[in-house]
Amino acid sequence: MAASPSLTFRFDPCTTPVAAGERAARLVDPGFGRVFTDHMALIRYSDEKGWHDAQITARVPLSLDPAASVLHYAQEIFEGMKAYHLADGGTALFRPEANARRFQDSARRMAMPELPENLFLESVERLVAVERDWIPEQDGGALYLRPFMFASEVFLGVKPSSEYLYMVIASSVGAYFKSGAPAVSIWVSQEYTRAAPGGTGAAKCGGNYAASLLAQKEAIANGCDQVVFLDAVERRWVEELGGMNVFFVFDDGSLVTPPLTGTILPGITRDSILTIARAQGLTVREEPYAIDQWRADAVSGRLVEAFACGTAAVVTPIGRVAEPAGSFTVGTGGPGQLTASLREQLVSIQRGQAPDPHGWMRRL
Ligand code: PMP
Repeated sequence: MAASPSLTFRFDPCTTPVAAGERAARLVDPGFGRVFTDHMALIRYSDEKGWHDAQITARVPLSLDPAASVLHYAQEIFEGMKAYHLADGGTALFRPEANARRFQDSARRMAMPELPENLFLESVERLVAVERDWIPEQDGGALYLRPFMFASEVFLGVKPSSEYLYMVIASSVGAYFKSGAPAVSIWVSQEYTRAAPGGTGAAKCGGNYAASLLAQKEAIANGCDQVVFLDAVERRWVEELGGMNVFFVFDDGSLVTPPLTGTILPGITRDSILTIARAQGLTVREEPYAIDQWRADAVSGRLVEAFACGTAAVVTPIGRVAEPAGSFTVGTGGPGQLTASLREQLVSIQRGQAPDPHGWMRRL
């Protein structure tokens, strides 16, 4: 990559922003991913001009040529992160540099140009700065940022696009699960896998999620909240959920999480939990864990807790695990002690209620 270019962001304020009263009404119970702010960030890329035309502008529908390459060959990547109100009244993003780097990794895998980290950070920070009022005040509330980039060249040949649109939109979100963190039930997908060695499992590209929907639908049809995927080769090793990484807690107080071998997403929450757990002296192993072992350990009581983690739902206990042959329950089936403690430590840092020893919070 060439040296990071700096661009001047043009600011075109939205001329019809949502009125304060209406905004307050929308923030009462925003749910997830339905309430959007007034502005968006945008940067264009072409092979000819490189990164150019950076702007913060009104959030409006896009006009796309029907032959835009993304609509046919899905050359698209995205990120997900949150901005929080801090206890002292400030505003901060949680580890946005990690999202910037993962966005570059995803771009490389999808043969897309890598957005320089400074432009990623500036686009997100400028957007949050104009949309601060959209961060809900209530417990668990945050501004969810969705940076994404797609192939916009008008061409039906199968090749990397020569033009891209990078954008950031923002959505006011509440607690992912209304009653705090109840346990989720998960369905072990036997028929479908999410990613194969050499594939795109470690990239945050839209196609991975499109491919996971049928398995998620099957989970719901079987009375479960989420799907967990096994590896594509042996159909044996636990990988991750459709949108969250997974951790196991044993009766000796140690933790296990599947290793980053290229088929799972390197979650930033996963990395943060690893760091917090190791800092408090816990033994954490990044090693393969088989579904048969999971069942046996849950039945014997050696496994006391399991949880899923990700930006949207933070840390969520896994209660019941269902397979075609039957189901089993982890621990008490409800939130376990270590799960609750790790969640609390992470949330306290994100809310500015605890010291930030790892320098994760980036203040605006
Ligand atoms: N795995 C998948 C497949 C995901 O989509 C996500 C959400 N980005 C995660 C794990 C968790 O990643 P993070 O902690 O960075 O949100």
